[in-house]
Amino acid sequence: MKTLVILGASGDLTGRLLLPGVGRLIASGRAPGLALVGAGSDDWTPARWQKRLTESFAESLGAGEQSSGIQELASVQKNSRYQQLDVTAKGELGAFLGTVEGPVAVYFALPPAISQKACEVLKKSELPAGTRLVMEKPFGSSSASAHELNETLAKLVAEDHIHRVDHFLGKSTVLNIIGLRFANRLLEPLWNGEHITKVEIIFDEDLALENRARYYDHAGAGRDMIQSHLLQIMAIVAMEPPATLGEMDVRSSIAAVLRASTVGRTGDTDPGASSRRARYTKGTLKGKHVPGYLSEEGVDPANDTETLAEVEVYVNNWRWAGVPFILRSGKALGRNRKEAVITYKPVPHLPLGFTGTDSPTRLHIGFGPETLTLDLDVNGPGDLFTLDRVQLETELGSDPLLPYGEVLEGVLNGDPLLSVRGDTAEDCWRIVEPAFAAWKSGAVPMQDYAAGTSGPAGWSTSND
Ligand code: NDP
Repeated sequence: MKTLVILGASGDLTGRLLLPGVGRLIASGRAPGLALVGAGSDDWTPARWQKRLTESFAESLGAGEQSSGIQELASVQKNSRYQQLDVTAKGELGAFLGTVEGPVAVYFALPPAISQKACEVLKKSELPAGTRLVMEKPFGSSSASAHELNETLAKLVAEDHIHRVDHFLGKSTVLNIIGLRFANRLLEPLWNGEHITKVEIIFDEDLALENRARYYDHAGAGRDMIQSHLLQIMAIVAMEPPATLGEMDVRSSIAAVLRASTVGRTGDTDPGASSRRARYTKGTLKGKHVPGYLSEEGVDPANDTETLAEVEVYVNNWRWAGVPFILRSGKALGRNRKEAVITYKPVPHLPLGFTGTDSPTRLHIGFGPETLTLDLDVNGPGDLFTLDRVQLETELGSDPLLPYGEVLEGVLNGDPLLSVRGDTAEDCWRIVEPAFAAWKSGAVPMQDYAAGTSGPAGWSTSND
């Protein structure tokens, strides 16, 4: 029997993302014999917890679920219980974990400050052998605080029993990039600064704030997306070939990229100044009026939060020296666009006599839906001296589990492959800190863009 204990059972993350992920995992038959315990500081009745499970699990069930999976889900739900617990009270959490049938995975779905306090308190308790700790983002708020949190966790369990969640690192995303890059002779010899002029990692959302001011107004696009998810994806796009798909090899290759990365070019006196930030003003999104960010409920203008950010990162090693990795993410944009775009250098000489397009070769790796698109110039229909742009497109594999289901499967199987390693979590802060400092000092002005557009004038990405 494995037990998943969710601390923060009543919270938003638990209801909207975590429990639907657990539900899909169980219903897919990929979490046999799982016991589920929810915990929170409120005095919930068993019926209230059961209601929450019913609602969340209903969301997780897709068409074509096997009836055996649905039975398994019903059985896990029936045996699941709620435990009232103040995780910051001395000895309470430790004593409770000692009573749970193990091995146990403890999911900290708590506000970051409470998670930190709970870990501090746990230092005084002996955790049952095999305990795994699952930490949510943000992991610290700077490289120094992430380091401090790592030191606290290291006193509790071994590094490979700590799962720092980045749900963008779903199995399909990671394996699709690794498979594409390292199972094709055609791509890898050209995957370097000799042939590639820039790499863009773009996560543009066509959603505005959606009532998430409580969290987002303190994070902004830079901390919410670039510091965590986008740097992780960049590292997989840029990493050296791992010898195996084991966690040690893959996570070491990811760590090596991030260790070599900086915002701005080596030698820049003010590396953060190359970054850009902007905030949406009122506009129209998908036919509906959207108020400007500063007029959204719960937003404090004093926080000076950006809703669109762009940071130019350099991976300072032999393969990538001089190639900009442009990481960009924003809200309330006209187009939902989630992809890595690899732009190749022009050919050294185009035979004279060709007319038509002369655009760079581009490879797009789409995330949700998982796709691959190659933009090429070919002698298309009509005049053969005229080059035409074509796109070769295919879908990539995806896992039927929801992102949190994918992450939790790794946790329950004791595989940290999809978890962020401690040194990497610190590096992700170290890389972006110069940009955040430049924003705070006002060295990088806040620009604006109307909701529903592609961003401020002058900001453009490939294929805009
Ligand atoms: P919420 O504020 O919605 O929930 C916090 C939970 O913590 C509540 O269930 C609360 O329970 C519990 N809690 C607070 N203090 C204690 C305590 N002393 N002892 C026991 N339980 C306690 O937060 P979210 O769910 O939004 O976020 C949780 C974590 O997930 C955060 O780290 C956040 O950054 C991260 N995250 C959230 C996302 C989201 O979409 N919500 C997305 C990605 C990450 P009670 O009410 O019973 O006190």
